[in-house]
Amino acid sequence: MRIVLLQQSIYEQKADAAALAQALAAPHLRFGDLMRSHLVRRTELGARAAAVMNSGEPFPDEIATAILRDAFGSTAPAAFLLGGHPRSTTQAQALDDLLHECGAPLDGVLYLRLAEDEVERRIRQQAARRLCRNDLTHRNEPPADRHCTVCGGELYQRKDDDEDVIRSRYRSHEAIVHPVAEHYAVRALLTTVDATGTPDEVAARAVTALHDRAV
Ligand SMILES: [Zn+2]
Repeated sequence: MRIVLLQQSIYEQKADAAALAQALAAPHLRFGDLMRSHLVRRTELGARAAAVMNSGEPFPDEIATAILRDAFGSTAPAAFLLGGHPRSTTQAQALDDLLHECGAPLDGVLYLRLAEDEVERRIRQQAARRLCRNDLTHRNEPPADRHCTVCGGELYQRKDDDEDVIRSRYRSHEAIVHPVAEHYAVRALLTTVDATGTPDEVAARAVTALHDRAV
């Protein structure tokens, strides 16, 4: 199956996506990884992407689409789970056109979503997280005091875990993903699935929903 994955910007999204790719037996294409590979290999696309990123301008749809075109090559991809792209309705339309050219249209778009109260719970949980300066694997949730419960080391809060930062990132991500979801809803490709539970539970629920749709 050729699937685009849309997610909310909270917490277990990477684990959910990895479990889902495995359950679908589909290669997991992460847009961020594809772009980093161009940067590392110093390709022409990588140089153009780096110039834009350094300028602080929004990432052009045209470069994003060129990166996808390069990833698909000229052959029709039989299966993939694409994450991190598209990020605008223009990119979504370009992706539709590109896959149509390859003779490999999307089978569906999966939108993993949490109920409002679960979003709120996860935001608070992430904001309460503290990391140990000695060892990042020492879990301290929620923080009991200023010292690690495992080794007594000093605890600190990652800048990314500040509640205002999390909320603002969440809202801007929603504002990007919502129109993309709408683009696919109109084309009868969108399946929305509840993202509560472990990554394996979410993946199983998503696979069932996709198959039910295909019948
Ligand atoms: Zn520790």
